[in-house]
Amino acid sequence: MKFCPHCAGPANRVTPPGDDRPRDYCPACDRVFYQNPRNVVGAVPISEDGRVLLCKRGIEPRLGKWTLPAGFLENGESTHAGAVRETREEAGAHIRLGEQTLYTLFNLPRINQVYLFFRAEIETMGLGFTGETLEVELFSKAEIPWDELAFPVVRITLEHYFQDAPGQCFPVRMFDVHRIGDQIDLRLISSSSAREAGTAG
Ligand SMILES: [Zn+2]
Repeated sequence: MKFCPHCAGPANRVTPPGDDRPRDYCPACDRVFYQNPRNVVGAVPISEDGRVLLCKRGIEPRLGKWTLPAGFLENGESTHAGAVRETREEAGAHIRLGEQTLYTLFNLPRINQVYLFFRAEIETMGLGFTGETLEVELFSKAEIPWDELAFPVVRITLEHYFQDAPGQCFPVRMFDVHRIGDQIDLRLISSSSAREAGTAG
């Protein structure tokens, strides 16, 4: 940060007393500006016949690739409400989240983001979507364009979904995602037990 967002004066980097890392600081306002990771919230929208809704991306990055509807959480919004909103905006679908719907969580410390995907039932489709999406389609496991998926977090979430779906038992899984050179290192950190996860409602 070069300039203070409040007074437009020059900002610098200082480690505040008691803190352990440098922060953006405006000496004129005597104000510290903290930057923290952002939440990306998304859904695994499921149709009545068990197919998954995917969106073909209309914007970079990964233009033309398929993804689950997801986007940045807004201020004043709960994570699950954000997933419902993003699905409405990007997929033109209204979804319903039942109980225990948090499904996958990805920590991406390298880019300061946390991804949260929720399982959801599709209630209505065809409501119209934003220019962020080119196409919306339902896919069975065999139809998923596995080589045309936009992001590793989407691939992993879909793989687990289709692995869990036959038993209708969906443990919550948390992953750490690191990039080592050109390789994405995606590691399962924890998974709730089948008993805790219960069965899908
Ligand atoms: Zn200032």
